[in-house]
Amino acid sequence: MLTGRRIVVTGASSGIGQALAGAYAAHGAEVHAVGRDPERLAATVRDRRGIHPVEADLTTPAGRRAVATAIAHRSGALDAVVHCAGLLGVPGAPLTTYPEAEWRAALEVNLTAVHLLHQELAPALDAGVAPVVVALSSTVGRAPRPGWGVYAVSKHALEGWVALLAAEWPRGRVYSVNPGGTRTPMRRVAMPSEDPATIPAPEDITPLFLRLVHEAAPEPSGAVLEARDWIGRDPWEGLAPTQSD
Ligand code: NDP
Repeated sequence: MLTGRRIVVTGASSGIGQALAGAYAAHGAEVHAVGRDPERLAATVRDRRGIHPVEADLTTPAGRRAVATAIAHRSGALDAVVHCAGLLGVPGAPLTTYPEAEWRAALEVNLTAVHLLHQELAPALDAGVAPVVVALSSTVGRAPRPGWGVYAVSKHALEGWVALLAAEWPRGRVYSVNPGGTRTPMRRVAMPSEDPATIPAPEDITPLFLRLVHEAAPEPSGAVLEARDWIGRDPWEGLAPTQSD
């Protein structure tokens, strides 16, 4: 159902982004998988057709340019960007004593890098077919919870960024998706006492993410969505095959 779709997935060297890169490629998309760690990125690509690794630190201009260059070397056009890269910050630290370095680092990855990467990729998206941007938010990005510090604040800001982009970009669709608690390295650090077996794996939450990048997905731009609502469902529910299928 995604044959011909050209998709950038950030955070593709771990957790949710890694699972999404594989799922998109399995449905026929051409995927640019972005991450910093070369070994983990190699694991994302291994034995899979249609995934191209892009080693990049998204907090640097050179890293963001590397993503744009990878697209330029292929068709030059892009149909979707899924922003999974993220930093947790310091779990449990209250705002009044929050360490400055971790505050700045997480804001940089969770918010500023998303915005600046979008600027870098906007020309390719405008050359794409029914372009889509998906930003990964969080439950604490919609209602604050004590101790979630810069992570909660950056995700609140990301929600605002999504709403503003939706208003400014009539040609594309933009979504905020909360994956919900998901069995990844970040979640293990955030909730060390949680039994990982009690929460969904990254592979379980892919249906909504698959659906949203389809060129005919009916969800309106600016929608604020929950990936858990789609666990176990057919991602293509109600979607007719399109020209590129
Ligand atoms: P992981 O910690 O497993 O993965 C984070 C990814 O972000 C890694 O691929 C990492 O790359 C990448 N990354 C971090 N910093 C940079 C950087 N400077 N440049 C490029 N890439 C970077 O996280 P999850 O898979 O759990 O989370 C994915 C998204 O989902 C995040 O935005 C998170 O906030 C959100 N989310 C997750 C939830 C969960 O329960 N897991 C719940 C709610 C939201 P590398 O390893 O190569 O450094």
